[in-house]
Amino acid sequence: EAKWKLFGVHDDLKLSFNAIQVLKERYLIKNEEGEVQETPKAMMKRVALAVAEADRFYGQDVNESFEKFYQLLTSLEFLPNSPTLMNAGTSLGQLSACFVLPVEDSIEGIFNTLRDMAIIHKSGGGTGFNFSMLRPKGDQVSSTGGRASGPVSFMRIFDTATDVVKQGGRRRGANMGILRFNHPDIREFIRAKNQAGFLENFNLSVAITDEEMKRVHQGEKIDLVDPHLQKAVSTVNARELFDLIVESAWKSGEPGLIFLDEINRNNPTPSLGLLEATNPCGEVPLLPYESCNLGSINLSKMSTDGKIDYQKLQRVVFDAVHFLDNIIDINRYPLPIVEKMVKANRKIGLGVMGFADLLCQLGISYYSDQALQIAEQLITFIANEAKLASKELAEQRDVFPNYPKSLHAAKNLPFRNATLISIAPTGTISLIAGCSSGIEPYFALIYRRFVLENTELIEINPLLEKQLKVLKIEEKIRKSIWEKGSLKDIDGIPEHLHSLFLTALEIPPTFQVQIQAVFQKQVDNAVSKTINLPNDATPEDVGQAYFLAHQLGCKGITVYRYQSRESQVLYLGTGE
Ligand code: UDP
Repeated sequence: EAKWKLFGVHDDLKLSFNAIQVLKERYLIKNEEGEVQETPKAMMKRVALAVAEADRFYGQDVNESFEKFYQLLTSLEFLPNSPTLMNAGTSLGQLSACFVLPVEDSIEGIFNTLRDMAIIHKSGGGTGFNFSMLRPKGDQVSSTGGRASGPVSFMRIFDTATDVVKQGGRRRGANMGILRFNHPDIREFIRAKNQAGFLENFNLSVAITDEEMKRVHQGEKIDLVDPHLQKAVSTVNARELFDLIVESAWKSGEPGLIFLDEINRNNPTPSLGLLEATNPCGEVPLLPYESCNLGSINLSKMSTDGKIDYQKLQRVVFDAVHFLDNIIDINRYPLPIVEKMVKANRKIGLGVMGFADLLCQLGISYYSDQALQIAEQLITFIANEAKLASKELAEQRDVFPNYPKSLHAAKNLPFRNATLISIAPTGTISLIAGCSSGIEPYFALIYRRFVLENTELIEINPLLEKQLKVLKIEEKIRKSIWEKGSLKDIDGIPEHLHSLFLTALEIPPTFQVQIQAVFQKQVDNAVSKTINLPNDATPEDVGQAYFLAHQLGCKGITVYRYQSRESQVLYLGTGE
């Protein structure tokens, strides 16, 4: 009732205040007067109907699939990425979150890509670019005899265009900007985001090879190579360059790293080219013009009586793979070349959210060996079931067209999809589902949000709320939890409760990297995870996390030191 009063939305799925507010602002269909035209349930119906339609192409039972998908969505056991929720069954119809575009070393090439980016952003997708082909600042431009301005200056144009083009008016586009470790402009790139307000629509990552990482370890030199002249222009100490990256990441969270060799060791179609870039949050390495649609299983719905319900999980994996494969056929692609690429490899990215919630339900602390074991069991099960599901689809619908050229064919594994698994940040869909995001630990146990000018909503972690009631924790103690946002150093909280509700800043960064690495082992795409560090962490802590991520076979790494930027997305607690 309160939600109806506040937002004018009939909450027929029993969602949280925050979820209803976000859905109303950006997801639910509105008429020309801006009045909401659907309930959350009706939104799920719109999506399930649109996605089930693909079954018709294969002579399969559309109604049966609709029922399956509708149940999957309304139970919140699985949600697709935001563009699917927003656009399925509408005239826009663009359903993917992730794109990669190539950037050629010519004005025509750069501005063609800029145009493609604008079109993709407008449709609701995010874009990743590797700018390493661009000649460095100061190189000669043959047609004019002038001097090139270098990758970072071109990135500024992409950034400004992103600001101007809103994603169908509903969210701003996100970008990933990548530069090779040995590009002559690498220092400028590393520092690019140290100034406030610069490249705000970009995440930055340095792409580094195993050989370069070895040289970093050994303090050896590397050549910086001009990609246009294809020759070395200077020599630097790899360790010093790496230290610049680490120092900058300590200061501002950026750049992260992308481990090129690990990514390409897992490229299912090496004969079609190298994987040199990822989507904005790093969870999907893609070929130029490829796109991927994501969906996440809500793990907080996958346990009963303190045990993982593997039977239920299996059903959800099969339905989710079917759902994501269908999207490829009903998607309205923003560019013809993207449609061609996507339909040839049929990559999908099934992932999870609510991992921290699940651990809590199982009575396991995120910071424990048991958590690593559960992570491994769980993701191994999901990856194996997804392969079986994709194999079954291949029997019904054929393998993906590039299959004969893929490594899957060499191993005689007939799949419908070139890739299957990807762990997304689930920034908004986890909020809609009311679970913890991706595989992250809880960031805070309390969130504060302001809505409608003067209304302040405080949301306590629902699992904690329950425990506080069971344990009859008194009001005074609850107040201090609100202020702090965590259970650290709060008198009157039993130790086991604290260990179940650890927040990210209480979990060592190296352990967070271990969790990421355990998931990555079974994930054919990549894992999005922010390694959170406390404000007093040192640059050495950041360096250690970067080295460990490489050593453990992660495909990339992102760190964030609390309050290292002037403004950040999440704050702990309500106390100022
Ligand atoms: N993304 C985007 N703009 C945004 C947020 C996300 O383009 O404001 C894209 C980006 O490619 C990102 C992907 O969506 O890597 C998945 O992000 P997330 O899981 O947070 O999206 P959700 O589906 O929860 O909205």
